[in-house]
Amino acid sequence: MKPIGAEAVCGSVAPGRARARQAVLFAPGDLRLCGFSPPRPGPGELLLQVKCALSCGTDLKTYCRGHPMWRLPTPFGHEFAGVVVEIGEGVTQFKPGDELMAAPTAPCGACFHCRRGQENLCPQAMEKMVMGAYADFLLLPARVVACNAFRKPAALSFEEAALLEPLSCVIHAQALARPASAESVLIIGAGAFGLLHMLALRAAGVREVAVAGRGADRLQWAERLGADHVIDAAAGDPAAEVARLNDGFGPDLVIECTGQVAGWRDAFARVRRGGRVVFFGGCAAGTTLDIDTRRMHYDNLTLIAPFHFRPRDVRRAHRLLADGHLGAGRIINAHRPLADIAGVFEMLERGTVLKCAIVP
Ligand SMILES: [Zn+2]
Ligand SMILES: [Zn+2]
Repeated sequence: MKPIGAEAVCGSVAPGRARARQAVLFAPGDLRLCGFSPPRPGPGELLLQVKCALSCGTDLKTYCRGHPMWRLPTPFGHEFAGVVVEIGEGVTQFKPGDELMAAPTAPCGACFHCRRGQENLCPQAMEKMVMGAYADFLLLPARVVACNAFRKPAALSFEEAALLEPLSCVIHAQALARPASAESVLIIGAGAFGLLHMLALRAAGVREVAVAGRGADRLQWAERLGADHVIDAAAGDPAAEVARLNDGFGPDLVIECTGQVAGWRDAFARVRRGGRVVFFGGCAAGTTLDIDTRRMHYDNLTLIAPFHFRPRDVRRAHRLLADGHLGAGRIINAHRPLADIAGVFEMLERGTVLKCAIVP
């Protein structure tokens, strides 16, 4: 499903269909709640009544400066969970009334990258991303229904279930980085992704997890959620604190979650000899990283830059959320009604909220 254009969603309501609301981003900084007529699901599709949608760093970036992949105006929001209200022809695994969680993309399963197990790079995955979760209703395309949608366990809250997409990204990165239980890991960046990485590492039984970041609020969250060490990147001598990790050898694995070149540079500089770096946070287009080739080779570094996720990562993320031990819902530290969606983004710009639950 291509994002539904705003002309379709802000137009008149089809007779016989309930009037519903959907947030549309018209231009950077211009997010409005519009009336729209929820579409009828076609073959393989289903219509979801959104129970919770989550704010995401990608949404904030798009709100501030637009996004190279998404044409404006666009319905907005891509992390969600809800209840099935209507199913299209051929949908057998879900029925109206089922509580459902899903990732907003699905690969084609047949292209060059899909055939090589790199479904995260499938062109279909990004081109046909589900947008419009900040709404009363959301249509899920057939590929997503068939591949990346799951029944939500009753014990899991809608807001925690809506973390499926960001957690899938985290699981993909960690599947490539393979943190071992005896290892010491440094996370650079104490935002929602940094903390999700930390919780997943904790769940995997990793021995030492340190979080380096900025902002007293965020560092406090990291500590409260279980970081062994919290390093203030803006005070003291953070490089010396990192060097003391892992019994003075420095971290075995560094996961960069700021999406800033300075963070990438730090990650490269701080990892121990023979260690691995995961560049998880994507930087702005056109930025470059100079690396010391001598260090790269003679310190035997492994650099990984994972993007997006594969269906197997979504399945693993679903299992982790479903079994309830992760406690990932703790990173959601604000709640707002859908009616206040424009205010949500003004609040996010101030930077104290990790993730906001938006409830219709
Ligand atoms: Zn997201
Ligand atoms: Zn494909």
